[in-house]
Parts: sequence; C-alpha cells; structure tokens
Amino acid sequence: MNTEEILENAQNAIAAARDEKTLDEVRVAYLGKKGELTVLLKGLGRLDPQERPKMGAAINQAKERLLALIGERKQALSDEHLQSVVEEEAVDVTLPGRSAGSGGLHPVTLALERIEDIFVGAGYEVVTGPEVEDDYHNFEALNLAENHPARAMHDTFYFGDGTLLRTHTSPVQVRTMETQDPPIRVICPGRVYRRDSDLTHTPMFHQVEGLVVDRGISFADLKGTVVDFVHRFFEKDLDVRFRPSYFPFTEPSAEVDVECVKCDGAGCRVCSHTGWLEVMGCGLVNPRVLEMSGIDPEEFSGFAFGFGGDRLAMLLYEIDDLRRLFENDLRFLRQFN
Ligand SMILES: [Zn+2]
Repeated sequence: MNTEEILENAQNAIAAARDEKTLDEVRVAYLGKKGELTVLLKGLGRLDPQERPKMGAAINQAKERLLALIGERKQALSDEHLQSVVEEEAVDVTLPGRSAGSGGLHPVTLALERIEDIFVGAGYEVVTGPEVEDDYHNFEALNLAENHPARAMHDTFYFGDGTLLRTHTSPVQVRTMETQDPPIRVICPGRVYRRDSDLTHTPMFHQVEGLVVDRGISFADLKGTVVDFVHRFFEKDLDVRFRPSYFPFTEPSAEVDVECVKCDGAGCRVCSHTGWLEVMGCGLVNPRVLEMSGIDPEEFSGFAFGFGGDRLAMLLYEIDDLRRLFENDLRFLRQFN
C-alpha cells in the first residue's frame, strides 16, 4: 500500500471515530510502534537510495497530516460531548413548578373540633385520659360491678393483666371527679374500643362525653344543654325528644333522638323512615357514682351525656357509610380540604 492509500483509509477511520478511545485506536493503528506508517518508515532502508528522500518526505507529510486530523477530531468530539451535557442538563424555566399540595383534616377530626368549640364556648374544659384503662375506672367506678350484666354489652378487649382498651370515655369522667372538686364542667372526646365489626360498627370509634357536677343540677339543665348543643351543631332548630332508658352510671337515664337532619322528620332511608335519629345517651349522674369518686351526693348532683363522634360526623357531612371514615380513600378525604 502506498502512502496515499494509507492516508485515505486513516482519514476515513478518524472521521468515523465516535469517541476518544476509538480515535486513539486509530492513532495506534497508523502511528504506533507497529502502525502502518511506522512500518513503512522502517522499510525505507530497503528502498533504492535515490527513492528514499522522496518516500521519506511523503511518509512524514502523511504522518503530520494524520496527527493534525486526529487533533482536530479530538477537539470536535470534546465539543460535541460538552454540547450534549449542556443540552441534557438544560432547565426549562418556563415549565410550571411542582406545588407541595396542602393537606386537610379528617371529617371526624372536623366534627370533634366543632363539638369542642361549641362546649368550650359554653365554659366547658376539654379533658382526656388513657386509652389503656384498668377495670376499676372503665367499669366498677361507673356502677358496673364484676357480674353486672351490662358488662356483656361492651365486648371488651382485655389485656389479661387487669387492663383493657377503654370501651367508652366515661373513665375520664371518673378520673376528673377523683381529682377535681365541683363545680365540674368538662367534655371528654377520644377513641374507644369494642370487639364489634360490621356495616355500622368498627372496633375503634370516637366518643364524646360530657359531665357537669355542681349544686342543684337537674334534668332541666341536661335537657337545655343537649337541645342547645344539637341546634348549634347542625345549625338547625331540630326537634329533640328524650326517651327513658337505662345506663348503670346515670339515674334517671334517657336516649336522645333528634328530628332527621336529612328529611326534616318526613321519613327517609337515613332515619329508617321514622323521622328520628338516635344520637346520644344521657342522664343524671347516679349518686353511687358520685360517692365512689369522692363527691358527696347530698351536696352535689350532676348530669352526663355521651355520643359517637363518627356518627355525628356522618350526619353532619351526609356520609352514607361508616367505613368511608376508616378507608383513607384520598378521593373521599379531599372533599373535606
Ligand atoms: Zn330521615
């Protein structure tokens, strides 16, 4: 092969090299120790002395030409690389930014806050207590002795060491009466637990109880408080009725029904076509309960009421299925943002 042919092949190889490594391989193939031009140069000695200078000059020219081409190609590759990096890392400042998105409160939390606001506005204090309770505070101090049949209604989660998951927030009332002197005016919102799970029951639910203990507290005070609360909570002058009932810790006791918020008493699916919704239990605090907590029932009397926070949230926000409150479906929850 003559120098022109070698030069032409080398030029093609240089132009075809897509990276520095390939380019270096081309350099070695032509200009390295065993490269084609190097071999040609070494073979000069075998040529006719007259031809040597001419051939030597041609080879050197080809060598310089190749070195220059390799240098140029190297620069071009480096420029290309830089260009691609710049393009890759380019930031389009016209694109819209990512927003952090704001969260919202759960409907049960919203309902509980609404309840707390109403009572705090009426001079009540919000108190809380342990969810893991002892048998005494959950049952005995509330007039539910060990063999009391009403205990069976509670379907309690027991831990086996005398403690249990509280089945209602009433133990907080007991703890309050044990540590505070009357007048007492508190509400106790919180989670309670029962071994119960179906369409209308969940093993954990929210309860709010209220307790007022003072001199001369009567059923009339209880009625006024409950009716006023219902009107404020639903922002409607709903009819309220009290039906005689039984709870071990109150005497007398009553169930409270309110006119259906959905149909205004006409009858619908929500109220099972009765026009009424059962919303809470209440009564005057049983004197025995006051006495066990160290309050003299001759001097003081009180009333207590309790209702489900989840149920009130469902009625307020017209939620048709209890399970929606616990499924954490964002499509549902975002409606309350
Ligand atoms: Zn109804």
